[in-house]
Amino acid sequence: MSGIVIIGAGQAGASVAARARALGFSGPITMIGDEPMAPYQRPPLSKGYLLGETSLERLFLRAPSFWKDNAIDLKLGAPVMAIDRETKTVKLGEESVRYDQLVLATGSSARRLPAAVGGQLDGVYTIRTLADVDAMAVEFRAGRKLLIVGGGYIGLEAAAVGAKLGLKVTLIEMAPRILQRVAALATSDFFRELHTGHGVAIRENIGLDRLTGVGRVSGARLSDASELEVDFVIVGIGIAPRTQLASDAGLVIDNGVVTDAFGRTSDPSIWAAGECASFSLGGGRIRLESVGHAIDHGELVAQNMVGASGPYEARPWFWSDQYDVKLQIAGLNAGHDRIVVREGDGNSRSVWYYRRAQLLALDAMNDPRSYMVGKRVIEAGQTILPEQVSDTSIDVKSLQSLAIKVTRASAA
Ligand code: FAD
Repeated sequence: MSGIVIIGAGQAGASVAARARALGFSGPITMIGDEPMAPYQRPPLSKGYLLGETSLERLFLRAPSFWKDNAIDLKLGAPVMAIDRETKTVKLGEESVRYDQLVLATGSSARRLPAAVGGQLDGVYTIRTLADVDAMAVEFRAGRKLLIVGGGYIGLEAAAVGAKLGLKVTLIEMAPRILQRVAALATSDFFRELHTGHGVAIRENIGLDRLTGVGRVSGARLSDASELEVDFVIVGIGIAPRTQLASDAGLVIDNGVVTDAFGRTSDPSIWAAGECASFSLGGGRIRLESVGHAIDHGELVAQNMVGASGPYEARPWFWSDQYDVKLQIAGLNAGHDRIVVREGDGNSRSVWYYRRAQLLALDAMNDPRSYMVGKRVIEAGQTILPEQVSDTSIDVKSLQSLAIKVTRASAA
């Protein structure tokens, strides 16, 4: 029996394998990863691991014995080069592995700066893999000058680590504000103030003209013609789903490997899970870039492969840690037309996103209680009226009891 073959030994791949076994699938499961490591979690790469506070052992998703105990065959350091759908085999070097059902869990790769603007110089890094972070560890020495290109979550987390370790950090963002693509002004303002307070120079509305240096980066010319001296650079300008294998195999691609509501691709024997997969939501085709989604989507694919038939119900959530601030996000804010900001005690704030009266999402900074309330309400398809959320005389716990189903009247 050929069994289940999973390409990609990351968060989603691990979720597929573990769930299929837990559901009683007794055939062979083979998980193939191009990285040399057993499946590990990526979030600490730009947080505790980069800071030196989280050990390597704590990154692994499972104890080493788990894979053996569950008869999950891990082939590591083994990039899959091709999928042959006729013979139902995947090719890694000279070796071929047959599958009955194949799962693509290939994740994404970090976007790099083109060589034309200095992206190939030594001392220019991205943060996607453990190897990326291990390679840049030597650079993090107090007093050195770090330039971060891109004011998204990964860039901001790396900036926080740099500032905490005593580096001189400059972060440039070409959009008018950091986090513009993902968050409201009130959230951007919160994080700008936080970073500035820790000595990070945040320069918005400024692009990178090019990095300079001979062999190794030593400077940067910015779009306003200013120049910076730099010791090293971290590029955090987003990610691209790894779809080449799927596309070479003739599968349909549209903002990721296209899957139906059950996680199946355009070939009924091939599934896709996690960041590499796109699926329909709210009239569009989206991909989600979060641990919660990789786990849930992987589990759904496992369930559907072993005989259930349930559609995916995304319950998006995300977090970020910067200095002493924990940001928790529930829901998706796309399409919001109204924002309510609720200031908490001290260094806490929550930002609630609405479309008409429907609560879509919230960002909670150091405010786990608002996060829990908002998450429950969003996942139940309920709402809390904006005027109640903005009324800080109503405590957070009581907000939950005010949740209502959205009716046509309240949505108007
Ligand atoms: P991955 O975990 O990337 O796994 C895919 C694996 O497939 C990789 O090992 C890849 O090398 C391998 N692969 C690809 N092609 C092949 C091939 N041809 N052959 C063999 N193997 C292949 N999410 C949050 O929710 N909160 C956070 O705070 C957070 N922080 C993050 C910080 C960083 C630095 C990064 C990089 C990500 C962060 N994320 C966070 C996102 C989260 O880690 C990802 O969404 C999640 O790992 C996606 O899981 P995945 O299995 O789809 O992809």
